[in-house]
Amino acid sequence: MASERQINVGPVAIGGGAPVAVQTMTKTETADLSATMAQIRRVAEAGADIVRVAVPRDRDVEALKTIVRDSPIPVIADIHFNHTLALKALEAGAHCVRLNPGNIGGPDKVAEVTALATRLGTPLRVGVNSGSLPAHLRQLEYDNPVEALVTAAVETVELMERLDFQNFKVSMKSTSVPNTIAANRLLSVRIPYPLHLGVTEAGTKWSGSLKSAVGLGTLLADGIGDTIRISLSTFHAEEEVKVAWEILKALKLRERGPVLIACPTCGRLQFDMDMVVAEVERRLEDYEDPIEVSVLGCAVNGIGEARHADFGITGAKDMGMIYSKGEPLKKVPTEKLVDELFKEIDRYYAAGKVVQRDERAAAEAREWLSENEDETAMTPERMAALEAAAADDAALLDESVSPVAGRRFTRA
Ligand code: SF4
Repeated sequence: MASERQINVGPVAIGGGAPVAVQTMTKTETADLSATMAQIRRVAEAGADIVRVAVPRDRDVEALKTIVRDSPIPVIADIHFNHTLALKALEAGAHCVRLNPGNIGGPDKVAEVTALATRLGTPLRVGVNSGSLPAHLRQLEYDNPVEALVTAAVETVELMERLDFQNFKVSMKSTSVPNTIAANRLLSVRIPYPLHLGVTEAGTKWSGSLKSAVGLGTLLADGIGDTIRISLSTFHAEEEVKVAWEILKALKLRERGPVLIACPTCGRLQFDMDMVVAEVERRLEDYEDPIEVSVLGCAVNGIGEARHADFGITGAKDMGMIYSKGEPLKKVPTEKLVDELFKEIDRYYAAGKVVQRDERAAAEAREWLSENEDETAMTPERMAALEAAAADDAALLDESVSPVAGRRFTRA
């Protein structure tokens, strides 16, 4: 249920079935050019498709001209209350301007902005915030906050259409996850324009990431949402980008860089898995390919659960094993597991993405695995074998049923 319409923010298509775009917002004073540009480069490196900068003063508009020229990704100017700044931001070459028509000074001023945006071919992001709904919706907001949010957004869209302007996307911001989900579900079937999703003031890196993953993930899984921003209380905007990507990767909506799988650990763990996982995660940041790497804390369940991983390690007290696509590659002393894992990954890439297998080392690893597996554990391989045996039994039983009386003969 992607939006019907598509707009373009610079070269980035939004809506109409385009990949969900990742946005973030700089945390610097925009007029501080060196700090702002450094942060824009960091978020671009982390995978932001689009970046938004706050433009509350004239000196920020001045800086915007340079930022638009030098930024590696399209730039959205974020404007509140002041339509003159919106006009100046458009003149400065912003690839998109974000404003809430409800707080910009009335329809006439919005019309001035849409007229210039039309002339320049620049899209707008228009929206509403749960904290600043128009006065006539206050009672509805009290009775039904979701309907109030949707009504305000629809009124904004109707204003844009009356002004003969369709080059926009819409956002409805709420701090409430259930209201964000409910409101966007309703709005997505009422308007054809692209939707920008976000849970506003979500919180710290920890709680904000979770709230955003639940709220945005639910909507994205339903096909709702064309661009997302994760709002976190951190100065490091690239953290927002990383969280956005993890949500999109988890839903298999987009691919970027490796996927790390790690078991949750339990009382069977015999080595410092926290350190190993952190080190694997850190080193994987140097790779761009979407390979899947798995870290299992022990070999009790074999490697069946990580069978699909391109590469993986499983450890024990002194010795561990490296595997690929469910097949052991070699056993390695635990303290060398991470180094050896990355040697194998690098050999794979050096050979044009072909796993390099040494049969003698693989045989040793298989032997180690069979010694360390728990013989009583229901590994996927054992479950598959049991299921196959049960299916064979059932087939034999069927053959021994009398075709005449439908009664089973007792088998010897
Ligand atoms: S792989 Fe081993 S250590 Fe990790 S959760 Fe499973 S049983 Fe526990």
